[in-house]
Amino acid sequence: LTPFTYYFQSQAGSLGPLIFKNYAKPFAHPLRLENNGRTASIRIPETSRGPYPTVTGGLLRDVYEAQSVHFHWGSPTGDKGSEHAINGRRYDVELHIVHKNMKYGNTEEARRYPDGVAVLAIMLEIVDNPKQYYPGLNKVFNKLPRIVEAGTNATINQQLTLSHFLGDVDTKNFYAYKGSLTTPPCAEAVTWHVFPKPLLISRDMISKFFQLRQNNGTPIINNFRPLQPLNGRAVYRRKGGR
Ligand SMILES: [Zn+2]
Repeated sequence: LTPFTYYFQSQAGSLGPLIFKNYAKPFAHPLRLENNGRTASIRIPETSRGPYPTVTGGLLRDVYEAQSVHFHWGSPTGDKGSEHAINGRRYDVELHIVHKNMKYGNTEEARRYPDGVAVLAIMLEIVDNPKQYYPGLNKVFNKLPRIVEAGTNATINQQLTLSHFLGDVDTKNFYAYKGSLTTPPCAEAVTWHVFPKPLLISRDMISKFFQLRQNNGTPIINNFRPLQPLNGRAVYRRKGGR
């Protein structure tokens, strides 16, 4: 599943907060940004003291460790690239932080179970003069011109943490639901947490995504899965509080 267009405020207030661990710890190795022909992606390394960043809480019953980050975007002609619509509104770019349930050995295995994968979704919106500057995200965007061709990668030498990818997003404010991977086979293995308030990013930075190319040389644009019907799934909302 499934980006959603409608939501139920079922059991409002019954979800606890998300709990992040090691998100603010520097990674042990420089990050490598890769063009895999479909998106720009980063494999998450362990942190300097050994453990991977993890998340639990919200709709999650287990602890999930971070594995990778990738992006979905639209086109230079103004198509929006987010996979989710929040109250009918889509955003320019959607960033996904993919985690695997620690009780499973690897991603392949985790993807076979309904509680195998947890994804955090962060919206990015183009604005002309952003008031906030996100040093970590901008370091990533600035490397995009180095991975124009499919199959290429670039190293980000500056020290980053996974928290940098959250920017200043309000992690107490989210929608959560059980759905699927948004790329084939779209297995029903993902618990989604979607932060509705976008990070505001300059057009210069976002347009770097449009330069990336697929294996056949054509631009990677509109690399999002179309909105899917909710099919009666419950979508949970948590807003504010602690
Ligand atoms: Zn994704």
